[in-house]
Amino acid sequence: MRATKLIRLCAMAALPLALGSCQTVQTTKPGQVGVDRKQSMMLSAGEVNKSATLAYQQELKAAAKKNSLNRNPAQVARVRGIAQRLIPATAAFRADAPKWAWEVNVITSGDVNAWCMPGGKIAVYTGLIEKLKVTDDELAAVMGHEIAHALREHGRERASQAAAQSLVLGVGGALLGLGDGSMQLAGMITDLTFNLPNSREHEVEADRIGVELSARAGYDPRAAVTLWQKMGQAGGSAPPQFLSTHPSPQNRARDLTNYAAHVMPLYESARRR
Ligand SMILES: [Zn+2]
Repeated sequence: MRATKLIRLCAMAALPLALGSCQTVQTTKPGQVGVDRKQSMMLSAGEVNKSATLAYQQELKAAAKKNSLNRNPAQVARVRGIAQRLIPATAAFRADAPKWAWEVNVITSGDVNAWCMPGGKIAVYTGLIEKLKVTDDELAAVMGHEIAHALREHGRERASQAAAQSLVLGVGGALLGLGDGSMQLAGMITDLTFNLPNSREHEVEADRIGVELSARAGYDPRAAVTLWQKMGQAGGSAPPQFLSTHPSPQNRARDLTNYAAHVMPLYESARRR
């Protein structure tokens, strides 16, 4: 959805109900990759993060019930070790992020998938680690990309867009404080995480911020290119579900190559430390 259309939707929605006023925010600093775009939000970060925590707990509970949560201690240590290097690097984009209540878990699943819900709730699937035989640099690339979605609050932005649309349709009252809003919003965040594709604009932002996070954490940012190539090759005629929620424009490899080259000095200085 274009920003102007969203602003119009917000104006239409907010007036009759006097709820969820539209706010224009700058979620991140531009970093060296220069991501600089203002965002319109109808939902507060507080309510989105609270609902994301609920949604995340539900996913972990479901995984634990299937005995598929953190089964392989070595894999869990590897994924958490990479997160521990990426998380301090988030300070380059927003000062508050290193202090978020980050959670990092590994889910046993054949799916090639990874995600980060709003507020820093990360899951990496064993299918991604094993089927793609990812290197640490590639794992950092995919985690950095997902973390970037959270830093940019793309989930909050998309939930705001959905809330604006449903208010226009007259069904979104509960989402904005009437009734059991947190649960409903948690359901929406689950849906956004698993079923609804990010916009191309969000993907480009996550790609660019992701390579900078990798570089700052001392992981080779060029691994993003090989990671997405492997992802594209996985599954043959049936690409991984992850890709269906991550539209893969033809120029993605070129964009990643350019931005990885741009942040190489950060990588080199991080490696010297
Ligand atoms: Zn993405």
